[in-house]
Amino acid sequence: MQSFAGVAVGSCHKIEGIFYDAITIKHPAPGYLIMKNEQKEKFKHHITDKIQRLKKDIISYKELTRPISPDNAIGRISRMEAINSKSINEEALRKVENTLVKLAHALKIIDDEDFGICIACDAPIPFARLMILPETNLCVACAEKLTG
Ligand SMILES: [Zn+2]
Repeated sequence: MQSFAGVAVGSCHKIEGIFYDAITIKHPAPGYLIMKNEQKEKFKHHITDKIQRLKKDIISYKELTRPISPDNAIGRISRMEAINSKSINEEALRKVENTLVKLAHALKIIDDEDFGICIACDAPIPFARLMILPETNLCVACAEKLTG
């Protein structure tokens, strides 16, 4: 993983260098490979793995967000705690479901020629960033601008 990430970052810098030299090119020319094929395959596996893990997470979160019974047996305080952790788990469930939608989308568009291009500035998103945040469609600079 370590050496793989190193290789990925190195090649992305080079690609970005070429891209910024040709600053007048709005979109990479057709066939311009942002991601090498072997990177793309690794990326597909990575997303598929992540989707599998998130699906398992969703099952456990759903288990944790089942309606709390108004059972007198659990007492008022533990009932409050149960409601509290239920809403935390509901929030987590929403986030996971949201990520899952984005990941499924990324997997669908991975073979498109503008996949891996920042939607805000058209620069290629570094491969290392895509591996960490496969659902992203923004480069680091634009993500920072947008989130303040
Ligand atoms: Zn950008």
